[in-house]
Amino acid sequence: MQRSHYCELSPLKTDTTDQTDNTNLESCIGHTIILNGWIKKIRRHGAISFLNLRDRYGEVQLTIDTEQYPSLGPAVEQLRLEFCIAAQGIVQLRPENMQNPLMHTGKVEVFTEQLEILNSCEPLPFMLQKEKDQVGESDGGEALRLKYRYLDLRSEGMQKRIILRHRLKHQVHEFLHQNQFLEIETPTLIRSMPEGARDYLVPSRIHTGKFYALPQSPQLYKQLLMVGGLDRYYQMARCYRDEDARGDRQPEFTQLDLEMSFVQGQDVRQLIEDLMCSIWHKVLGPKQSRKLSRPFPRLSYQEAMNQYGSDKPDLRNPLQLQDFAEFAENSDFGLFRQCLADSAKKGCVKVLVAPKAGEYCSRKVIAELEDEAKKYGAKGLAWTRVGSGSFDGGIGRFFQEQFTAISQRYGLQAGDVLFFGADHWTTACEALGAVRKKLGTALNLIDKDTFAFAWVLDFPLFLPTDKEANDTGTANTGWAAAHHMFCMPHPEYIETMEQDPGAVRGNIYDLVLNGYELGSGSIRIHRADLQERIFDIVGYPKDIAQERFGFILEAFRHGAPPHGGFAIGLDRLAMIMAGKDSIKDVIAFPKNNLGQSLTDLSPGKVTPEQLAELKIAPLPEQK
Ligand code: ASP
Repeated sequence: MQRSHYCELSPLKTDTTDQTDNTNLESCIGHTIILNGWIKKIRRHGAISFLNLRDRYGEVQLTIDTEQYPSLGPAVEQLRLEFCIAAQGIVQLRPENMQNPLMHTGKVEVFTEQLEILNSCEPLPFMLQKEKDQVGESDGGEALRLKYRYLDLRSEGMQKRIILRHRLKHQVHEFLHQNQFLEIETPTLIRSMPEGARDYLVPSRIHTGKFYALPQSPQLYKQLLMVGGLDRYYQMARCYRDEDARGDRQPEFTQLDLEMSFVQGQDVRQLIEDLMCSIWHKVLGPKQSRKLSRPFPRLSYQEAMNQYGSDKPDLRNPLQLQDFAEFAENSDFGLFRQCLADSAKKGCVKVLVAPKAGEYCSRKVIAELEDEAKKYGAKGLAWTRVGSGSFDGGIGRFFQEQFTAISQRYGLQAGDVLFFGADHWTTACEALGAVRKKLGTALNLIDKDTFAFAWVLDFPLFLPTDKEANDTGTANTGWAAAHHMFCMPHPEYIETMEQDPGAVRGNIYDLVLNGYELGSGSIRIHRADLQERIFDIVGYPKDIAQERFGFILEAFRHGAPPHGGFAIGLDRLAMIMAGKDSIKDVIAFPKNNLGQSLTDLSPGKVTPEQLAELKIAPLPEQK
C-alpha cells in the first residue's frame, strides 16, 4: 500500500518511519500511517470490523474497533464496497492464528484510529475481483466492463497489465535511447494515404471540402525523417484504421514505429531481436528470457507457407505440411491429378500428418476441420486414417497400392490421420494451415509456456486484386501492394517487374510470435524513378501519383538515403506478454468490436451548428 497524506485527517503525530519505504508495511510495525484507497471487502463482527483496503500498490486489512473508538461508528456503518476512504492507524502484527499467508501483507493489519470517507460508491454493476479477473456473462460481460471501465481498471488483473504495459514501454525507451534512437512525434492530421485500410477522415473547417486523415501509420513521415538526416527514429505511434469489425482489432492502436538509414534488412532485424530479448529480460525476468532461442528462426514466406500453411506460423506447433505431389501423380485419384495438371493455377497437393489423432478425429471433428479449411477457400478436406497395413476410410482406397512407400516417406504409424490440401498453392497451404492450427490446440501439442519468435522474410511485393477500383482511388491494374507501396523489391526482380508482378519478392520481413504477426517492416525504396514504377503497377499512373504523392517523390529526388524500418504492434506485444488473448485486456480504454467506446459513448452525434461550420450536410437517410 502507498502511505499517503491526501485527506483531512489530523496530521500524523508519531510517525517516524522512513517515508520512502512505503510499500513494505511489515517494516512499519509500531508506526502510525495514513492510507488512502478503496474498500475491497468488508466483514463486520459486532464492534469489530475488518476492511480490506486496496490501491494500486497492494492491499491491507484495516481493523476497526468501535468500542475502543466509538467516534468511528457512524462512518463504519456507512461503508460499502469501493468507497474511497482515508484511514489513519498503527501497523501491528496480527496474532499468529489470524495471519493470512495468501495475502502479501497478511501478517499485519492497520489498527484504525481515524477514518474519513472521501467518496461513496454506488452499488457495483459487477464484482471487481473475479476468478482470473474475468467478468462473466452473468455479470453483463464485456459491455459492462467497458461501460464502467474505471471500475474494471481498479481490478488487480487490469492494474497488473497496465503496469506491465508501462514497463514494456519504459524498456523500449531505455533500449532505443541507448542505441542512439531519437523519439520524434509525427503529425496525426495528415493527408489521406493508402496503407491497406480505409482512412478515418477529419474535415477541415478552414479549407472547405478538404479533409485530413488520421494516420494508418507514420510511414511516409518516418521516411521523410530519414531524408532529413534524422536516422534512427522511433515513436510509440497512435495509428488509426477504419476497418470492419473483425476479430481482435481496434480502430486505434499503438505501434512501436522505427526507421534507420544506411541499413540492410538484417541490421533492422538484429536490432529488433536485441530489443525483444531486452524486453523479455527486463520485464518478464531472466527465467522467461532464457526460454527465447536465438537467433530467432528465419523462414522465407515460401517456406512458411509450404511448411506451416501460414505467413505467421506458430512454431510451438510441431505439425508440418508436406508435399504429396509424387504420390498423387502415381495414383488414379482424378481430383488430385487434375489439380496438379493445372499449372496455370499453380496447383499443388499437400499432406498433413496428425500423429495418433485417429481416436480424436471422429466424423464430427473431421467435418469441423473441413469447415475450417473451407474458410480459406478449400472446396473440401480429403482425409484418411492409417490402419495396420492399409489406409482406412476417406480417400485411402486410392492410395492402398502405395501404402508402404507413403508410410516410409512420412514415418506413418497405425492410428495417424492424414489430411490433404489440393488446390491453388496459396489455398492448399492456407486451408491445411488452418487445420494444422486447430489440431495443434485440440491435440494439446502446444507448449503454452514457451515463446516462439520467428522471422518471415521475402514476402511478395504485389498481390492480385479483382476489385474494380478500391476506396483508395487507384485504377484497377489487377495488382495491389501486399504490404505497402514503399517496400523495396529484391534487386533481381527490378528490371522486369512489370512483366510478372506476382513473382516479385520484396525485402519485406515480419516478426511472428506464437502464431501472431507481431510486426512488419521492410527496406524502402529511396529513388523516385523506382517508386514511380511501383505506383504505376498498383494503379497510380504518373499524373495521379504526382498529385497524391508528389511530396515523397520530390523528397526522394533530394538526396534520400537508403533506409528501412519496422513497426511492432505494441498492444499485441503487451497482450502476449500478459498471457491474454484479447488486446482489449491491455488497453486502458478500448473500443468494443463495433468500434464504439462504451465508456464515453463515442462515436456520438454532433450539433447541426458544428456540421454547418464544417459545411457538411448529412445525406437524407436511406429507407
Ligand atoms: N508502416 C508499416 C505498417 O504499419 C510498418 C513498416 O513498414 O514500418 O505496417
